[in-house]
Amino acid sequence: MTAVNKDFGNIKLPSPPAIAVRIIEAVKKEETSFDELSRIIMADPALTSKVLKAANSPMYAIPSKIDTIQRALTVLGFNALKNIALSFVIANELNADSDDSFDFDFFWKRSVTAAVSAELIASLVGKKSDDIFVTGLLQDIGVVIMYLSSPKDYLIVLEEKKHSELTAIELEKKIFGFDHQEIGMEVLNHWGLPGSIYEPIGRHHLNGVGGNGKGSAAEILNLSDKLSSLYHGDQSSKKLNQVKSAFRALYGIESAEINDLVDQVASHSIEIISFFDIDPGDMQPLSEILYEAKEELGKVNLSYEQLVRELELAKSELKKANNQLSEMAFRDGLTALYNHRYFQEQLEKEVNRAMRYQRALSLIIFDLDHFKKINDVHGHLVGDRVLKKVAEIALLTVRESDMVARYGGEEFAIILPETEMKGVVTLAERIRKQIASMRMELDGKNVDVTASFGVTLWEKGMPHTNKENMISAADNALYQSKKKGRDKTSFKGL
Ligand code: GH3
Ligand code: MG
Ligand code: MG
Repeated sequence: MTAVNKDFGNIKLPSPPAIAVRIIEAVKKEETSFDELSRIIMADPALTSKVLKAANSPMYAIPSKIDTIQRALTVLGFNALKNIALSFVIANELNADSDDSFDFDFFWKRSVTAAVSAELIASLVGKKSDDIFVTGLLQDIGVVIMYLSSPKDYLIVLEEKKHSELTAIELEKKIFGFDHQEIGMEVLNHWGLPGSIYEPIGRHHLNGVGGNGKGSAAEILNLSDKLSSLYHGDQSSKKLNQVKSAFRALYGIESAEINDLVDQVASHSIEIISFFDIDPGDMQPLSEILYEAKEELGKVNLSYEQLVRELELAKSELKKANNQLSEMAFRDGLTALYNHRYFQEQLEKEVNRAMRYQRALSLIIFDLDHFKKINDVHGHLVGDRVLKKVAEIALLTVRESDMVARYGGEEFAIILPETEMKGVVTLAERIRKQIASMRMELDGKNVDVTASFGVTLWEKGMPHTNKENMISAADNALYQSKKKGRDKTSFKGL
């Protein structure tokens, strides 16, 4: 099949990026191409670094580190490497600063997610191919070409789409006389890319005839677009269900496996989007979004699908108001830190999350030394001020993702998600030293304040644990610090 010979009116077909031309030329020369391809890539340091990052990404699951283009060629093969390079070169060329009407970053973020989806789907359904990533990436390239050559007309398409019953394809045909599949296919053919890439792009909306069946590249592109829109567009249970029915009908793949696929799309995309110098924003695997929402809404027994529906219903205003209310109920009056009850709830959640996603979790508990004496010598009011001051020090020292709570009278606790041994001990030591050196700062009164710290941590690979175990380990460690003479940090493993 050759590209359609169509009249594209006044549209000026863009010429290919210079490096892309050289890569495509090198591919055509059979003998020298191996060396030549690495030379072309290596001549561009930014491209080299992106290609190496991609080659080392979990998507290719290569066990050893690939640190040179030659090695990438050997391990991934010529065709895969050529396609990775072309992906970066073309996405880089057809990009511009986003304006109010067309968001280029969004376009490419969505395209990279579709490319990752296409790669994962192809692998899941036994249709792995070197071409599928770049094909997924460039499936909507016609949209950018149409926008760049005739912005006003394309904005009409986008505007009408908001109100119209017609699909984007139909609106493009109405306004331009052709659609983004046709022009995308024409341009890529014109640039010298192979038919295995431009042909499925020419019919990825499955509205043409032939070649769109089960397992075809066009079919995979179509599904990849739906997966991508789960993350870049309205999250809707309808979309998720459509994806699931399509996979069940076409490949007999069950819902649970699709949940995993949907998650993988996000975890891989976040990394790969950043290789394209685009901020992935707050993209997060769907199951994590839903898991957090379940806990937040207290609806732990809802199914995946029910929950997405619930979320659609939850108005953001209502959520905001609820958040404010619970904030107040969860704070300690004296220090404004989170109170004991909230600490217990959060630790429970964080432990569950750590187990589920195999992420490190640390806990610090610390207790002021001989605090009774401070009250006795300086009075209760000074004691209160010391507590406030200690709370402030802890808050200013931790990261935003850490949670500081008043655990009891003069006991404090800090939950540190995704923090490993070195980080947590350093942090505890930093707080300990700051408390010990704050003594002169209370109205010139000589108040000696120190605290004893207990630290514990759970890391990937360790046996499952729970909230009680973590508290007990941190408490034991704290007791060790007291026994060793106070003003110390001790660690106890789980
Ligand atoms: P240790 O080094 O063993 O921890 O000695 P300690 O004196 O700190 O321990 P203990 O638990 O015996 O005493 C804690 C004291 O903290 C007793 C209590 O009066 C005081 N305290 C608890 N809550 C507050 C508070 O909100 N304000 C003030 N000023 N003191 C408090
Ligand atoms: Mg104490
Ligand atoms: Mg105490």
